[in-house]
Amino acid sequence: MEIPFAEAYRIKMVEPLRKSTREEREKWLKDANYNLFGLKSEQVYIDCLTDSGTGAMSDRQWAAMMTGDEAYAGSKSFFELKETIGRLTGFEYVIPTHQGRAAENVLFSHLVKAGDIIPGNSHFDTTKGHIEFRKATALDCTIDAAKDTQLELPFKGEVDCAKLEKALAEHAEKIPFIIVTVTNNTAGGQPVSMKNLRDVRAIADKYGTRIVFDSARFVENAYFIKTREEGYADKTIKEIVKEMYSYADGMTMSSKKDGLVNMGGFIATRHEDWYEGAKRFCIPFEGFLTYGGMNGRDMAALAVGLDENTELETIETRIKQVQYLAAKLDEYGIPYQRPVGGHAIFVDASKVLTNIPKEEFPAQTLALEVYLEAGVRGCEIGYILADRDPVTRENRFGGLDLVRFCIARRSYTNNHMDVIAAALKNVYDRRHEIKRGVKIVWETELMRHFTVKLERITE
Ligand SMILES: *Cc1c(COP(=O)(O)O)cnc(C)c1O
Repeated sequence: MEIPFAEAYRIKMVEPLRKSTREEREKWLKDANYNLFGLKSEQVYIDCLTDSGTGAMSDRQWAAMMTGDEAYAGSKSFFELKETIGRLTGFEYVIPTHQGRAAENVLFSHLVKAGDIIPGNSHFDTTKGHIEFRKATALDCTIDAAKDTQLELPFKGEVDCAKLEKALAEHAEKIPFIIVTVTNNTAGGQPVSMKNLRDVRAIADKYGTRIVFDSARFVENAYFIKTREEGYADKTIKEIVKEMYSYADGMTMSSKKDGLVNMGGFIATRHEDWYEGAKRFCIPFEGFLTYGGMNGRDMAALAVGLDENTELETIETRIKQVQYLAAKLDEYGIPYQRPVGGHAIFVDASKVLTNIPKEEFPAQTLALEVYLEAGVRGCEIGYILADRDPVTRENRFGGLDLVRFCIARRSYTNNHMDVIAAALKNVYDRRHEIKRGVKIVWETELMRHFTVKLERITE
């Protein structure tokens, strides 16, 4: 028989997990005001809230933690990190930051001014926040197909070149750069093809503007190019990464994702003027240029993590686990954003809890039910997260109402994936009995989902 696919690692250290009873979970959830962000991590059996900073480091990374140095200026670990990033991307200039949003803050402080327009493919929320905070506009140019959860496309996170070209034709002088997010997190971890990156480059060149890649999951994107795009099957992940960045002028990175570390970020670019400009903001916001908010040992572990994750065995193990979970959901008929992306499953709650009106937040209700079922914590990416309209103060019900289950890197086994799938199946099978949702009893004006207090509606 064919030898089945299995993980390209063995487990050397474990963190025991506590299982709980449904009764305990009922009480904990009530104490947390039916907000999953309010739970303590010990109250969760399998934590799928995020894949950010939640992965496991390798023995090589832990060894680098010991050999990293803690110099304020001229840290050896910084130069290891700079060398690795340069080798992988071709970018000469590197500024470390404490995480991805800090990289955005430092670079955008130099590049974005009031009245600017930054086109891109579904800007991540902190990216959009840093643009709007500077009174500029984040213009979404994602392909329309990304909004239809049931449509199967190999590269569903792409930039719509017609939309992008229109923006440049009309406002080129107001556009300091284009931002391309690889993979497109907001659209469900969906990849962008090499062809699309090349086309965006051609448009940028035509109008004389530059391109930043928001790079949190750049390795997952490279894996999808290798497995889905013609001409790349025989290329290594590192070759694909190198080609991807040949079409960019710079990058912002959240190392908590494809850097395989628990905290960190950076900016990298080929342009001295961007480096010189951004440098001025690194020092007051983050720290001196050779640590920028990171410990030396953490930069050393990041250098190893970037190298390790751009090896096929590592990234293949990661993506295949996410696809394993998706295949279980297919078997059970549970609707999610298709095809599954690189880091998470996004279950389409509006197609599951059809009895629950929008006003009672179906995705949040589904996330609560899955936690009660098996101690699995997902995250509502729906109407609560969408906040209220800043002018009318009405809830925004225009977008999708999803529950996201992120898979932490190298942390859970496929048995855990079976538990997540079974919990979803049990809730799915009794979906018609779930007739009432939740109501908001307390909320903040912006980003309310983190702290919102809810009550279950019981008639
Ligand atoms: C996580 C993320 C960020 C922000 O990074 P942090 O490290 O959380 O600050 C930016 N863009 C994308 C696409 C991300 O996924």
